[in-house]
Amino acid sequence: MVRRKNDSLIAIDYTDFFKEDFSKIANELVEASLLTTDENFKKYLIYQAKALKENDQTLDAKADKYWSTLQTEPLEFTISRENYDDEMTSTVLENNELKSLIEKHKIEVVAKDKLGARVGITNHKGTELLLKFKDTMGQLSSLMPYSNTYTQTISNAKELKQTMVDVDLIALTGDYAEARGGITIAQNLPNNDKLSIKQGNGRRNVYHRQVRQSYDAKRTKLHLDTFLHPSFHQYYNVEADHIFVIGHENGHSLGPSSEYQNSPGICKSIIEENKADSISISFMPEYVKRGIITDYQLKEIYTTWITRRLLLRSKPIFPTETYKIVDLIEFNILLEYGAIHFDENKLLHIDFDKVSPAIYNLLEKVIDIQLSKSPTKAKAHIDKYTTWSNLHEYIATTQKKLGVKKYKNIVSYF
Ligand SMILES: [Zn+2]
Repeated sequence: MVRRKNDSLIAIDYTDFFKEDFSKIANELVEASLLTTDENFKKYLIYQAKALKENDQTLDAKADKYWSTLQTEPLEFTISRENYDDEMTSTVLENNELKSLIEKHKIEVVAKDKLGARVGITNHKGTELLLKFKDTMGQLSSLMPYSNTYTQTISNAKELKQTMVDVDLIALTGDYAEARGGITIAQNLPNNDKLSIKQGNGRRNVYHRQVRQSYDAKRTKLHLDTFLHPSFHQYYNVEADHIFVIGHENGHSLGPSSEYQNSPGICKSIIEENKADSISISFMPEYVKRGIITDYQLKEIYTTWITRRLLLRSKPIFPTETYKIVDLIEFNILLEYGAIHFDENKLLHIDFDKVSPAIYNLLEKVIDIQLSKSPTKAKAHIDKYTTWSNLHEYIATTQKKLGVKKYKNIVSYF
């Protein structure tokens, strides 16, 4: 916390500022650690309790380190610190005078965290599927563009410090539970700014099962009838979207290191999310080759991804609407490479064979940007591929006519 004191600013550590709340939480965690029979989970709880009590970031790093190795534990518990929603901090770099001062004094600009707690039960069947995808990552890293010119974050799956679990949610509290448009299908923590990541420790990705289980048959049919040529309707399947998300999340662990990922300044999240999407789609045929998904599922993944995510409701605002900007870039690339087109009735057609090659081309551009560490190059890429034409306007207007539902109906299947 930062407070003004006369003419200067003073920083107060969370452990002091929130002392009362933090020690209450720490006491609960210590109590839980006495009850659990799982050694890793116990270690995590003890270090987390310590970290909440002492102003010492190495303790936070230790807690994060143990938390990130939890893979086989039946229970899920997370104290989340995620910095994606802070839209203000990164804009300080837009002010050139401030930027040069920050650089001169070697100050790292770190976005503010949101804090929340998540409780759940690990779903074993869903987790098994995730681990199958994980096993391919070492091989995929060698297929990355310019893979010889930088050190791969991973070179084989065993080295990959990434755990992943599919979780049935019980509770989301704190900032997780605030009123907002939605919650992500998966959350991969810690973020790049955390000490544990800088020390080379791993991440843990938690997939929220209930979040992906919202489906409205009537509404989906209306949406498909409006935008997609009938010959493609058979390929629309919400579970295929889950597979796209797995590819996306794993994509964050491929490519150049976090130092490069953080380099494009204000554009860094857009470029990094663009990378993760591109890895997911361009490597999907590799999963078919390895027998993890079928050729039919591949068509479902393409169709569902394009129809569900890329038909935008409005022109996205730079730089805050990260995911929508990324969707628009991908839509425009698919159009440019003829992987999609709209017929005279404004119905979408997909040329399945062209989808992954088109997106691999995009992946090359994105990796080139990260390797260049150039914010200017990043911005030029975004400007070039976020053009908005009559077709985009037609889609957005039609989407608006179909309206937005104010709630989601989740039918959970176990
Ligand atoms: Zn992502």
